Parts: sequence; C-alpha cells; structure tokens
Amino acid sequence: MHNDFYQDGPELKNTFLSDESLRELIEKKIPVNYRLQIQKHLRDVGEKACGEWLEWSKNAENNKPKLIQYDEWGRRIDHIEVSEGWKNLEKAAATEGIVAAAYERQQQEFSRIYQMALLYLYHPSSAFFSCPLAMTDGAARAIELHGNDELKSRAFTKLTSRSPSEFWTSGQWMTERTGGSDVSGTSTIAEPEGGSEYRLYGTKWFTSATTSQMALTLAKVRDQNGEISKGLSLFYLEKNNIEVMRLKDKLGTDALPTAELNLNGTYAQLIGAPGEGVKRISSVLNITRIYNSICSIGHMRRALDLTQNYATKRSAFGAFLINHPLHKKTLNELEAEFKKCFKFTFYLVELLGKEETGKASDTEKKILRALTPVVKLYTARKCMQVCSEVVESFGGAGYIENTGIPRLLRDAQVFSIWEGTTNILALDFLRACEKEGALAVLTAEFGLKNIPEPKAESAREVVFSVAEQVIQSLT
Ligand SMILES: Cc1cc2nc3c(=O)[nH]c(=O)nc-3n(C[C@H](O)[C@H](O)[C@H](O)COP(=O)(O)OP(=O)(O)OC[C@H]3O[C@@H](n4cnc5c(N)ncnc54)[C@H](O)[C@@H]3O)c2cc1C
Repeated sequence: MHNDFYQDGPELKNTFLSDESLRELIEKKIPVNYRLQIQKHLRDVGEKACGEWLEWSKNAENNKPKLIQYDEWGRRIDHIEVSEGWKNLEKAAATEGIVAAAYERQQQEFSRIYQMALLYLYHPSSAFFSCPLAMTDGAARAIELHGNDELKSRAFTKLTSRSPSEFWTSGQWMTERTGGSDVSGTSTIAEPEGGSEYRLYGTKWFTSATTSQMALTLAKVRDQNGEISKGLSLFYLEKNNIEVMRLKDKLGTDALPTAELNLNGTYAQLIGAPGEGVKRISSVLNITRIYNSICSIGHMRRALDLTQNYATKRSAFGAFLINHPLHKKTLNELEAEFKKCFKFTFYLVELLGKEETGKASDTEKKILRALTPVVKLYTARKCMQVCSEVVESFGGAGYIENTGIPRLLRDAQVFSIWEGTTNILALDFLRACEKEGALAVLTAEFGLKNIPEPKAESAREVVFSVAEQVIQSLT
C-alpha cells in the first residue's frame, strides 16, 4: 500500500510574543516610561528572529567561512571570506543596537536588561554572530573604563555605533598553545616602540571574530634592559602585520571564523600599566561571561520552542506527543530548568546595569563579582543537558542533520568551554570566597545553607549548591 504520510516539521512564531518569561520580565522590571518603546522594539526583533535572521543564519551555517591565503599571483593575502548571511547578521546587530543600547543608557540602569533582551532574541538566529558581539561589548567596556581619550573617541565610538558602515567588532585574543585557562605561559612578546606603542610577536591559538577590525590581546613586555616581564599586559590593536595560519575545524559554531594567528610585529597600544593585563581584561570577561549565559538561555529557549511545537504535531500510539503524560512531563521539566536559568541570568543582568550606572550598592557589586562565573558555568551546563534531551525528544529526526536539530546540541557544547571552563570558573568563585568573603555576603543575602566546604575538590558541588539556592530565593 502506498504510504503518503509526511511529518510536518516544527514552526517558530514571533519569538518575543511567544516568550512568556521575557514578556513577564519586561513588565516587571522595566518602568512604565520606558516599557512601551522597548516592547515594540522587542516585538519587531521577535519577528525578524523567526523570519529573515533565521534565513541569514541558515545561509551562514551552510556556507562556512573560507581562508584564502594567496591571491591569483601568489601574494599572501590571508583573506577570510564569509557568507552573505553572516554579513547581513552583522549589519542587523549594528542597526538594532545590540551592543549600542547598553552604552547609550537611555533607559538608565534598565538599559542592560533591554540590551540583553535584544541579544537573547538575536542569538539563536545569529549563527553565533553573538560571539563577536560579546567580545565587542567587552572591549567597549574595557575602553570605557581604562582607555585613553584617543581610544574612546576612535574605537569606543565604532564599537558602539548603530551605523553598519561605521560599526566595528573586536576580537579578544588570550589563548595560546600553552593554555587558555592558564594564560601565564603566554609567549607573545611586546617590544617597546616608545610611549605606549609596542610591536607584538607571537602566536594566538584560538581567535574567534578573526574578521574583526580590532582586538584586545595579552603579551609580556620586554623592558629597556631587555628583560621580559613575568606579568601580562593588555594591548589594543587594529589589524596589521598578522598572518592567518588556518581556520579551526570545529564541532559546532560553523559560521564563526575561529583562526590561529601569527603576530609578526603587530603595532599595538598598551592599555593601563605594564603587568596589569589580567586585572584589566577582567572587565572584558565579566561582560563576555554574562553574554555566554544570555546566549545559553536563548539557545535553550529556541530548542524548547521547537520541541514544544513539534509535540503538538507528531503523533504516536494514536495521540499527539504532547498528550502523552510522560512526554509532557519530560518537556515540562526542561521548561523548568530553562526558567531557573532565565531568572538567574537576568538577575545578574539587572545588577550589571546598576553597576554600570553607579546605582549598585557595595553588596550588589560583590554579588555580581561572585556570581558572574557561577551563572556562566551553571547556564552552560544546563543548556547542554536541555539540548541533549531536546534531540531525543525529536526521536530519529533529532539525529538527522538537515532537520537542524543536531546543530543545537553540537553548538551548545561550546558554552561550557570558552570564556572559562566549568572547573576554572568554579575555582574563580572559590577565589572570590577566599579573597572577598563572597560566601558570607551570599549567605547573608540569600540565607544559604549546607554549602560544602569551599576547597578545590568540592568546588563544583559548592557552585551548584550556591546556584540552586540563589535561584530558589529569587522572586
Ligand atoms: C570555538 C572556540 C572559540 C574560541 N575562541 C577564542 C577566542 O576568540 N579567544 C581566546 O582567547 N580563546 C578562545 N577560545 C579558547 C578557549 O577560551 C579555551 O579553549 C578555554 O579557555 C580552555 O583553555 P584550553 O583549551 O587551554 O584548555 P586547558 O586549560 O588545557 O584545560 C583543559 C581541561 O583542564 C581543566 N583544568 C585546567 N586547569 C584546571 C585546574 N586548575 N583545576 C581543575 N581543572 C582544570 C579545564 O577545566 C579543562 O577541562 C575558543 C575556544 C573554542 C572552542
């Protein structure tokens, strides 16, 4: 007998209007004088995220970046060719103000909630253009805090521009072959050229956003006596004298160019004093880690939207999947995990907005410092778990490439690696406990109980216990 059954795939609807958690957040947290305008913008963005941006992201993922090392006549050009979709997603990021909205601060301390809501809707349809944006935002903050007037008027203005022709993205080049978690083995040397000018020589092993116009990077300075400093210094550079060795062949994030670079006497400018690099770059990491959490929850939301819709279309044993109590319970449990992550992440976004506008109390500043690594690691791991379950919730279709579902899981893995692995961030939290009394502050604020003794072997148990209890007490 001829079988003419074909399964309908999952559909997305306006991703703002269909998102109860986000709509509630905006109602609750944004004062009425800003709310209408923000809701209107988010509604527009929600439409694009299930329309043209989605098409552009598919185009970008199906047309991976290519490295063209030589021109027709043998000259070394090291050009990275990216897809039309990727270029369009960059323009959209500028015009929607996905970085700019945070720095215009038109909504005062609520600007970060608005801007991160934009990012949250943008990320799952951006083919990971959110990654260059994270580093762009981090660089903007570092320059705002530590840059001189020249950097502020040149780079900061471009990083926070809404004009696609003016807009710059930034790289953040820390990882070398010797290590990403431990950058003390950095072997890039900065040779002084006079004043704050240097030339950099070395290799950077993982550089995403390789097509960016500028980057912040770390190097060891050679002093006038020819001695190489132990400490690291932070440098600003606009792309020059750089060889792209190759693009990485990765598990996911296919559209994102991630390269290995040689710095061959790259002109760069020191930011801050020599040896202050790790301290200075921490302002970048605070931002990129919160971006990571926002992208993790955006990613989870997309995976859940797809499976929840599919469950209303796919039948088994005479009923739609959603009507099978066990399938429904499985999806509800995933939704609950998402909601916890959403609440936790936007709580920190709220604190970040207050800190950046001088409205955070001392306690809030300490909470922000202590919980930023925790929210990053917590949401990254939950995202992987949720995406793995979502793949299974599609049955065999979840394992088939062109349904787009396997990509969700492959891409999710990166959230727990870049910007600090789970263990490294758990240890960072322990440092905040040791040096800044973070546990006492959190205990007083959230009534924490039965936290395991904070020591290296138990660091993971400590951070997960802290995260669960903080989330429980957030209203
Ligand atoms: C797709 C992608 C893009 C990237 N883009 C960039 C970029 O643009 N710029 C950039 O600078 N980097 C980038 N990275 C690099 C990334 O930040 C590093 O890979 C990451 O920080 C880990 O460093 P590592 O690879 O050297 O691992 P290692 O440091 O070798 O870590 C290996 C394992 O050991 C564990 N470990 C290490 N030390 C300890 C310890 N003390 N206690 C317990 N466990 C420990 C880690 O948790 C990890 O599981 C990118 C990575 C990926 C995958």
